[in-house]
Amino acid sequence: MHIDLSAFTGACPCGHEHPIVVKDIVIESGAIRSLPEKVKPWDAPCIVCDENTFTAAGKAVSALLPEADVVCVSPQGLHADEHGVAAVREKLPETADVLLAVGSGTIHDISRFLAHEKEIPFISVPTAASVDGFVSTVAAMTWQGCKKTMPAVAPLYVVADSDIFSAAPQRLNASGFGDLLGKYTALADWKISKAVTGEYYCDRVAGLMSRAVEDVRAAVDEIAAGGRDGCEKLMYGLLLSGLAMQMVGNSRPASGAEHHVSHLWEMGVLAPPPDALHGEKVGIGLALCAEQYHAFAAALRSGTLRPGPRPDTRAEIERYFPDAGMRELILEENVPDPLDDVTAEKALGARDEILAAIDEIPSAEELRALLRKAGGVAEPGEIGVREDIVPLTLRISPYVRRRLTLMRLRKVFENI
Ligand SMILES: [Zn+2]
Ligand SMILES: [Zn+2]
Repeated sequence: MHIDLSAFTGACPCGHEHPIVVKDIVIESGAIRSLPEKVKPWDAPCIVCDENTFTAAGKAVSALLPEADVVCVSPQGLHADEHGVAAVREKLPETADVLLAVGSGTIHDISRFLAHEKEIPFISVPTAASVDGFVSTVAAMTWQGCKKTMPAVAPLYVVADSDIFSAAPQRLNASGFGDLLGKYTALADWKISKAVTGEYYCDRVAGLMSRAVEDVRAAVDEIAAGGRDGCEKLMYGLLLSGLAMQMVGNSRPASGAEHHVSHLWEMGVLAPPPDALHGEKVGIGLALCAEQYHAFAAALRSGTLRPGPRPDTRAEIERYFPDAGMRELILEENVPDPLDDVTAEKALGARDEILAAIDEIPSAEELRALLRKAGGVAEPGEIGVREDIVPLTLRISPYVRRRLTLMRLRKVFENI
């Protein structure tokens, strides 16, 4: 099956063109057999993979493209950071004119970053339905210890072979499911920010994302079973989510307060980073945030919210981010402060829109049940995050990004 990209392009009522870079997205059994045709225009293709993804798919891709070089790195301690980039860069032939990212999230982020650096295109060959970043235009990376969105390129093609990705461990599928469920709070944050600050928002993109989430949620039993159909549905939803990001040129439709929780843990600010997959942290962060969002909605409905002095951003960051280098980067990230023009009165003026946005998020219990049903984790303790750092996580995670979320907005109220 090909995703019909023409359905998403053309003039949009929001006023944007929504350029889509990717030329074709194919999700089906045997999809990699289309690679020789796709790679034909280039002289020096190079496959980028790690030892695990080489076994899972790189070997088969290499057999189809005997002229391609293969850069295979150790998966041990491989992350989308300056070290991971350096490990691949030093093996990359100077002449490479197209990269094939054969792997999951980390291999993709490293490849898209290097493709951007070398100004060459890249082709995505996902080996697991584990994240939504395959078609994204930006790379989510850790740079000098800080989570950053780095300039990168979107793939020219996505060749998702279900013979390959449906054979991935179920834990990876459950992680992809968690990443996608995270769109519930991400979308609510986007809608709330639009209502309170007038931030750019597109109904078509948000609608596309909502459909992706609902379709994947409805397929939870098939995803839990780990068969080809369930995995294809999950991959389809993840790729739609990536397209939504590509359409607006940033991660706003796909990343909100739940991702900020995950980023804060990855940065190791309050405790050493948990050894867990991206979507596991996002899913757990989602349930924690959903609890807070529904409590906020209840307080808003009952009229018990009182405007309060909002905490001083600079003082909070200086107090809670002990590492000097990271602190500087976070301080920079918070200029201008997303709350600069926001007051409690303004937020209360958007009461109905805020409530409508929160009402679309399932309860924390429902979300945890869904995560478990898919075979995933749902509580901080399951990935080694101590319960006692949860309150501080919720308090300071909004500072990791200059992006208005409800977690950030609620700081203009008392006792929240
Ligand atoms: Zn639009
Ligand atoms: Zn994500």
